[in-house]
Amino acid sequence: MIKIFTTLKDFQDYRKNIGNAKVGIVPTMGNLHEGHLSLLKCSLDENDVSVITIFVNPKQFGPNEDFNTYPRTLDQDIAKISNIAFTAKSETVVFAPTSIEDIYPSGFNTTISVKGVTSKLEGAFRPTHFDGVTTVVYRLFSIVKPQNAYFGQKDFQQCVVIKKMIEDLDLGINFIRMPIIRNSEGLALSSRNQYLSEKERVDALILSRTLKQIEHLLLQKDDYRSYIHECLSDKNWDYLDVLDASDLSEPNEKSHELVVIGTYRMGSTRLLDNRVVSIL
Ligand code: AMP
Repeated sequence: MIKIFTTLKDFQDYRKNIGNAKVGIVPTMGNLHEGHLSLLKCSLDENDVSVITIFVNPKQFGPNEDFNTYPRTLDQDIAKISNIAFTAKSETVVFAPTSIEDIYPSGFNTTISVKGVTSKLEGAFRPTHFDGVTTVVYRLFSIVKPQNAYFGQKDFQQCVVIKKMIEDLDLGINFIRMPIIRNSEGLALSSRNQYLSEKERVDALILSRTLKQIEHLLLQKDDYRSYIHECLSDKNWDYLDVLDASDLSEPNEKSHELVVIGTYRMGSTRLLDNRVVSIL
């Protein structure tokens, strides 16, 4: 079963009706690919109702970023969701508000801002990005009232930030981090991959290959720091680092999970990827 709501009012009426049902949320900006759909499939297995939200959130784009040109493909997205909903045993709901005012009514003047963990990596390159993300996700949580929330490891720092927001504000929502879905060559799927030319798509493999090599060195207890240092002579890296996966701090003797994380620029497209490594 699939239900589609394009206004806040209609969604809220529906939400009242389902009362205590177990609800999962999958927040997205649309232009769906197998990465997004893997989150939805997991939510459908674990909840009575799964709400996939589709909203290109202006607040998380910087002034010179691609808000206006971000691919908006609602009809195709709904077709993809319908294919999955068709065989699912639980209910699928698409909440795709067409009006920005449904999410940010006129006079909206609140920002949710997680400090600390947002200041490095992506935050250093996109200073207003995470405030936009936490504000919209909080707003969507308050509309959808989910028990479970599904996010992709692809945006690793986003996972750390949202988890922290849920903990700090005691929202009582389970945070579920889902694995990265890649194409057959190893490139992490992303809506922005379509900005790449054929050649750039091949060149982009440097990102996943480098992270894999660093993971290898890490597991061999080899000197991965010098390797990273060498890599960074290629100025297309915005950053490349190994950090404690729990809070993105520098690894220390107590760290048991590390993240190898990098962003590589291909023309004007920034490609994100990471690998989580358990260490003994
Ligand atoms: P977006 O529409 O780009 O904001 O992404 C919506 C959700 O899908 C986020 O939680 C992303 O981390 C997740 N996502 C995007 N790409 C992938 C991928 N390749 N594998 C798994 N999850 C992904």
